[in-house]
Amino acid sequence: MTYKLLLTPGDGIGPEVIEDTKRVLGWFAKNRNMAFETEEAAIGGIAYETLGTPEPDATIEKAKKADAVLFGAVGGPQWDKLPFDKKPERGLLRLRKDLGLFANLRPAICFDALKDASSLKPELVSGLDILIVRELTGGVYFGEPKEITTLADGQQRAVDTQVYTTSEIERIARVAFELARVRGNKVCSAEKNNVMVSGVLWKQVVQKVHDAEYPDVALSHMLADAMAMQLVRAPKQFDVIVTDNLFGDILSDEAAQLTGSLGMLPSASLGAKDADGKQLALYEPIHGSAPDIAGKGVANPIACILSFAMCLRYSLGRGEDATLLEKAVERALAEGYRTPDIMQDGMTKVGTAEMTAQIMKALDKST
Ligand code: NAD
Repeated sequence: MTYKLLLTPGDGIGPEVIEDTKRVLGWFAKNRNMAFETEEAAIGGIAYETLGTPEPDATIEKAKKADAVLFGAVGGPQWDKLPFDKKPERGLLRLRKDLGLFANLRPAICFDALKDASSLKPELVSGLDILIVRELTGGVYFGEPKEITTLADGQQRAVDTQVYTTSEIERIARVAFELARVRGNKVCSAEKNNVMVSGVLWKQVVQKVHDAEYPDVALSHMLADAMAMQLVRAPKQFDVIVTDNLFGDILSDEAAQLTGSLGMLPSASLGAKDADGKQLALYEPIHGSAPDIAGKGVANPIACILSFAMCLRYSLGRGEDATLLEKAVERALAEGYRTPDIMQDGMTKVGTAEMTAQIMKALDKST
């Protein structure tokens, strides 16, 4: 089987973690009866520098033709003063929008070897395995009007618009219920129906989809602010969380911190399946471009490598290989290898390349 992957390394540590993930791809090509046709394309700050736009049309077109996109990270202080439409982040937003990637899957898993790295007590996070399903192409990040206007008295007035339709809520709810069925069979939906009408509709629609199509899944509803509190009080009460774009952005970062390091967590963004069953998808570490450590060879490659594991599972139908890779990461951690961001007393400090080498050694041992 040959899989076509588009790699968009981007900025900062993006190219470093993608480079190491390519080595892992090579291991799977060599050992697991699969082949990859890979191509690289510019996105973000580097695309702005070389092509004059952070969102080149050619990159978007290539992404549409690939089986999946492996994305590094974009952004950096050198581009902070650019106008809104030239900022590196535009590249990622455009990919999400143009590929119709409406479902963002963000697991927050606490590896046993790292339970002491969390800012919460080990017993609260040990064995933690939450999946946050965030709506990604609607809501307040895209709603119109979105503008700053000048009022008659000279003040400025800024407006963002939170907007959701029934079908947008239905499709993300279905993704959450389907995933819950192959995990812990529990979904908790978060919104703010006490103060937002979009929250009232969200809650009604999620409940309707549940009652009509997924009555076997346990569904609960929670206000997003209460969930922010419960995530640090008793995070293991959750299995699958489904929420909108804005609340999902915030709650998934909070959940990420429970597990110790941004450098550990992958994500997947999926579109709808077309008539032939093809589903556009993008996989990326949840961290940013980490300009403070870029170029030093110390970035943790695990989030990007685990994003490739998600790609194996969700886009390539290779669940067994995904598990193999996840177990290899666990093994390298259990053997004591740590990049500086997750370093603990008594462990072996390694850089990006050595961490990847240890994961590949663990893969060798497992086959
Ligand atoms: P960041 O995630 O880049 O970094 C936050 C902190 O975590 C930094 O101290 C960094 O060194 C550390 N860190 C992040 N990833 C790491 C890894 N793999 N290994 C070791 N340490 C790691 O977030 P930030 O500093 O808020 O943002 C930096 C830039 O990245 C900004 O321009 C921001 O807009 C951009 N950003 C991009 C994305 C994306 O491309 N999806 C996401 C978030 C932020």
